[in-house]
Amino acid sequence: MKRPVVKLRFLQLSTSLFMEFVELKSDKKIEQAVLKVLRSGQYILGKNVEKLEKAIADFVGTKYAVAVNSGSDALFLCLRALDIGEGDDFDEVITSPFTFSATAEAIVRCGAKPVFADIDSNTFNIDPLQIEKKITKRTKAIIPVHLFGQMADMNKIKHIAERNNLLVIEDAAQAFGAEYIVNNEWKKAGDVGIAGCFSFFPTKVLGACGDAGMITTDIGGLAEKIRLLRNHGMEQKYNSKVIGYSSRMDEIQAAILLAKLPFLKDWLIERGQMANRYNEALEGLTWFPYEGLNAAHIYSQYTIRERRRDDLRNYLKAKGIPTAIYYPIPLHLQPAFSFLGYKKGDFPIAENVSQEVLSLPLYPGFKPPQQKKVIKAIKEFYDRY
Ligand SMILES: *Cc1c(COP(=O)(O)O)cnc(C)c1O
Repeated sequence: MKRPVVKLRFLQLSTSLFMEFVELKSDKKIEQAVLKVLRSGQYILGKNVEKLEKAIADFVGTKYAVAVNSGSDALFLCLRALDIGEGDDFDEVITSPFTFSATAEAIVRCGAKPVFADIDSNTFNIDPLQIEKKITKRTKAIIPVHLFGQMADMNKIKHIAERNNLLVIEDAAQAFGAEYIVNNEWKKAGDVGIAGCFSFFPTKVLGACGDAGMITTDIGGLAEKIRLLRNHGMEQKYNSKVIGYSSRMDEIQAAILLAKLPFLKDWLIERGQMANRYNEALEGLTWFPYEGLNAAHIYSQYTIRERRRDDLRNYLKAKGIPTAIYYPIPLHLQPAFSFLGYKKGDFPIAENVSQEVLSLPLYPGFKPPQQKKVIKAIKEFYDRY
């Protein structure tokens, strides 16, 4: 039987950045889980949220996980709970200029000042050497962003933080399931800093059908404080201990994420296989993603670097192949952050990379024949131009 169109539009369960609907094995389970929540009458912070918190903590390897309403709020509530930005002086938080605006927004929203440090040209992640140059007596924390699914150099960043008494908060919004060798041990994203912040926005590797986020940590007191802050500072109903926020996860999103989680491992394997196929095809043609020896990349995005990026993009577009640019303008050159006083030339690598990056289609359900078409078109471009 043909499925009604409306239902497909409503679902979009396997959304990728390219927004092509692909029916996945998880879809039936998700439909059932959503229906169960709809009929339960409990829609915010219920059993599914509790179960999801436990499942995510287990997966990441932390003692606690606290569900919130987005990745942006995960970052913000985490900074707030750590009292960053509370003092009279501007606390400084060092982060990457080559990220989604949410990272630096969270720092500004809690009253602190984002201080950017340039990125590594191979991984696009914040460069530990540049972090060291930016530390002042006001620096309180570092927020490394695990961009495109590969963790930042957490070994070096952890050591820098320890030497300078700084907190490390991981922006792991793009790296659920990524791993890195820290002190000779494989660690998951979200399990290295004092806390990890995740987003389950629909286009992320583990995506809900709306907004959702999570904070992972081993520190019980921090988890408790975030629990208070996410729900109006209330421990008991209608008795607020502190000024809080309305940032809860709803049951439908939690149920959807719980239904998808068992499939994640297969999806990550599929992503790795697709990345390998691209790597083999692009060898010798253009710069393909660098995967560090210490890193297990999950390819949230498969992002190449190409000087003739716009020509290649237009060529693919004409063939009906969508691509994306993450990110066309580094944060320090965006109007919202102009008050920080940065100028063109301050972060040459981030600026350069932003002119050259191009993300190719890669998502579970993107079949090898479709990928072959993309590869063929790329090869054609290099044959012709
Ligand atoms: C998606 C994302 C966020 C924000 O997550 P939302 O759930 O959309 O608020 C933060 N940081 C990075 C690096 C992201 O990719």
